[in-house]
Amino acid sequence: SPEQLRSLLISRIRDVADYPKPGVTFKDITPLLADPLAFTALTDALANRCAEYGATKIVGLEARGFILGAPVAVRAGVGFVPARKAGKLPGPTLGQNYALEYGAAEIEIHADALSAGDRVLVVDDVLATGGTAEASVELVRRAGAQVAGVCVLLELGFLGGRERLAPVLGAVPLDAL
Ligand code: AMP
Repeated sequence: SPEQLRSLLISRIRDVADYPKPGVTFKDITPLLADPLAFTALTDALANRCAEYGATKIVGLEARGFILGAPVAVRAGVGFVPARKAGKLPGPTLGQNYALEYGAAEIEIHADALSAGDRVLVVDDVLATGGTAEASVELVRRAGAQVAGVCVLLELGFLGGRERLAPVLGAVPLDAL
């Protein structure tokens, strides 16, 4: 059941206090990755969403969105597109800047990675402020594709990411555990 899946996954996520800096509780998914039952169950659940939303591509956000998104793409039978931190992709890229708490960041995809008919499921581990997810949605749309959905393992509700994304997503679903 969805409830059993949820409690299995939650039980495999480790809270690490004061990482990477004081006051932050880091959600460590490595215990989940190390448990084949939990990792498979998550992959299957996300692959079902992928099919339900009619997605044709998975965009995975560096770095843990690669680990979670790639097996989903294989299971769902769709392509995987990495959204990387600026300067890592070898070909011509499209980039999107976004603000961080202190400073700015940029993510990129290959300019030819998506086409007009594509419907994209964006995958990452944690939705915090929503800045990364928002940038990825903008990037997918600027590449000419449609965003079919955004799926994260965990949402840190108190950071307001869902509210930030609401006007950007409109009717596009945002799913978390
Ligand atoms: P944000 O752009 O603020 O939504 O941050 C989301 C990105 O930062 C994701 O790629 C997450 O992997 C990472 N992240 C932010 N906060 C945490 C956290 N508390 N634990 C683990 N990862 C986090």
